[in-house]
Amino acid sequence: MCAFTHAINRFGALTAASFVLLACLGRPAAAQEVEVVGRSNAGVAAPNNPGSSQTLSAFGAPPAREPAAAPEKLVIDRDWLESRLHQPRDEFRNLKSDDYARQHVYVQLDPATDRDTSDAILMGVATKVRWRSQAIPGLFSIEVVDGDVPNAVNALLDSPEVIYAEPDYRQYADTDPNDSKWDDLWNMRGNDGCRAQWAWDEFTGSSNMKIAIIDSGFQTNHPDLVNNVWVNPGEIAGNGIDDDNNGYVDDVNGYDVVNDDGDPYDNGATCGGHGTHVAGIVGARGNNSTGVAGVNWQCKLVLLKLGVVNPNDATDCDLYNYTQALEYAFLTAGCRVSNNSYGSYSFEQSQFNMIDVSRAYGHIFVASAGNGGTDGVGDNNDVTPHYPDGYNLDNIISVASMELGGGRSGFSNFGSTTVDLGAPGGSVLSTIEGSSYGNKNGTSMASPHVAGAAALILGKYPDASYSTVKWRILNGVIQNNNFNQTVSGGVLNVHKSLGVWLDFGAGGSHLGTRFEPVANMADGLQKTPWTGVLNIKPANNSWTGTINQSIEIRAPEGPVTIGQ
Ligand code: CA
Repeated sequence: MCAFTHAINRFGALTAASFVLLACLGRPAAAQEVEVVGRSNAGVAAPNNPGSSQTLSAFGAPPAREPAAAPEKLVIDRDWLESRLHQPRDEFRNLKSDDYARQHVYVQLDPATDRDTSDAILMGVATKVRWRSQAIPGLFSIEVVDGDVPNAVNALLDSPEVIYAEPDYRQYADTDPNDSKWDDLWNMRGNDGCRAQWAWDEFTGSSNMKIAIIDSGFQTNHPDLVNNVWVNPGEIAGNGIDDDNNGYVDDVNGYDVVNDDGDPYDNGATCGGHGTHVAGIVGARGNNSTGVAGVNWQCKLVLLKLGVVNPNDATDCDLYNYTQALEYAFLTAGCRVSNNSYGSYSFEQSQFNMIDVSRAYGHIFVASAGNGGTDGVGDNNDVTPHYPDGYNLDNIISVASMELGGGRSGFSNFGSTTVDLGAPGGSVLSTIEGSSYGNKNGTSMASPHVAGAAALILGKYPDASYSTVKWRILNGVIQNNNFNQTVSGGVLNVHKSLGVWLDFGAGGSHLGTRFEPVANMADGLQKTPWTGVLNIKPANNSWTGTINQSIEIRAPEGPVTIGQ
């Protein structure tokens, strides 16, 4: 698997230096010669065993190269839908809670049902059909007579054509209300957070990359966001016409799936603060002398608003209709990435199925791991599943929260098999409503760092599949014992995940740890291209140590050239 060796002899201070490079690229690479040139004039000593090579197993072998992210062929028929059911059909009669939208029911009919029969079934309990899925034939959201959801669900299940019916359960924004005074971008800068700063030396985002912010709402004209908001080229604002005939009227920047309009900020701060903060982490404009910078300095934020003001509490925002929002994200707008900083403890069949279908479109669904439920103390999601991040679908990335200093936030859920990695989520500064800036805490804030990283990677490598992007993110993490109970065992490292990186061989002791060889070289991997040249440079240009062991080059795909 690992390929090449080469002798270096161009370091000024070297004497017959050579060391072994092990290339672990995503496809089996033939042995090849590479030129290795350092920028430092300091010493790199000869290896202990010149010419030998060593296979490292720290990360395991990368997966076979994924095919391009073209939609897979997916036949959605009764058999497929029934195969996806997470519980027996009759169990849908027992509602899991009464915490749901009062007017709405999701109902899945056998896609083969004819029009007249469908109409008869739906109109038996509905006052109107709110939404008909384009991605999943036979899936509807209906408004039910007298708001009697339990009765409607039961009546629908009496029809054999109905595969399941369920309420539109409420979801909760995974944010913690305690603001902090830590008025700094620790999450992006230096080595404390997600190391976006180092990644930005190489790539700051693509203005073609569309990222769905599925959230409470969003201040579209925030000065640090306005230039990164998607504008639907086919839609004319405010004319009451579905100009591009995509099923949505006036969807200029996305859609408000709760109020059925094109305005993602029509509840102001109550249902806008959370989404505005999340959006800024993903894509606040960078290098514009204003406020903060998101993981992507350039991108297109597609806004999906789920929030309505709670009728019983004017300061609270309820979130609904995420299944419809996700379909808009990947099918209508063509987003490869969505951020989903919300959740609940209800398995919802329609939500599960839509995320599953989004996978066939190469969609990466990044979601918060949750904030510990009602007591605010982080829970083990392996024991108490949290959704949507906890569905067992491989295009989901579930994110826990890290504090400045590397600890897991006390509120953050975790899970050795259900939560993938950590990312900054404590005292994160970002954009807030009122064209302002503020700190928020939560796995809600951690998730958009990862969604931003996924978009950054896809912006640089547009042909990468969802699994390649996920591989990069999970294998690029900074190992961190506080995140032992996650799949990766570490926290987001945008820099590594974006590029190509080095790991020192087993037994290496000179520069940091085996997993983080650049710990003492803040700018150690100054350039980490997909193809081209990898420059190695210590931060202070006074590298006096020696490299006397093998080095592994990490990237899921190649080729990589080492040089200046
Ligand atoms: Ca439209």
